[in-house]
Amino acid sequence: MQTIADRLINARQEIDNAIASANRNPHSVRLLAVSKTKPVSDIELAYEAGQRLFGENYIQEGVDKIQTLEHLSDIEWHMIGPIQSNKTKIVAEHFDWVQSIDRLKIARRLNDQRPEGMPPLNVCIQLNIEQETTKSGIIPGELPALVQEIINLPRLCLRGLMAIPAADVTPQAQHQTLAALQSLYNDVAAQVDTVDTLSVGMSGDMCEAIAYGSTMVRIGTAIFGARQQQN
Ligand SMILES: *Cc1c(COP(=O)(O)O)cnc(C)c1O
Repeated sequence: MQTIADRLINARQEIDNAIASANRNPHSVRLLAVSKTKPVSDIELAYEAGQRLFGENYIQEGVDKIQTLEHLSDIEWHMIGPIQSNKTKIVAEHFDWVQSIDRLKIARRLNDQRPEGMPPLNVCIQLNIEQETTKSGIIPGELPALVQEIINLPRLCLRGLMAIPAADVTPQAQHQTLAALQSLYNDVAAQVDTVDTLSVGMSGDMCEAIAYGSTMVRIGTAIFGARQQQN
């Protein structure tokens, strides 16, 4: 049976292969290990295997893990799930990144609630390019205004864009979505110095996403195995 360490090596190898096929710079794509629903012991195994970026979807679960693993101080914790406005405070107090910003109200609250002693909270704006009703994220037309608002919030640092493109589409539709994301990302990166992250690509579409400029892939199942809970 493959261990978490084995699966991490495979995931990194796949990323390196995709980078090479796309003729991109080595190390231009970071791997976010999505540990939602998985126990702290799995995160510790991944950490021992050199993994430092972890993503969580559920706020309380994520905060509990962050507190339990406080001694592993070089872990970078990413919130990648939806955030209700009554939960922003604990997110602002514990996470290093929030990738799922989908409205100004959430950004403002995170800014106001980010503790003074901590560095600015890194954030990505979540896009819903295909306008799927089941997914959060803004439509492209709303992006310029939200970028302008967020760069004026001093306790947030805008790092880029995040998206979860639909999986069950034709290759042509998939490429169209990825190309649109890359183009929106390039526009924002050209305007805002701190923007360096296009978070797109999961187990099923990682290679295509890397071909279209992804700088961060988010992988759960392929590292930690199948989840009991649906999500
Ligand atoms: C769960 C999740 C992932 C990882 O999904 P896998 O299919 O387990 O690789 C990535 N991104 C987001 C936003 C998720 O919710």
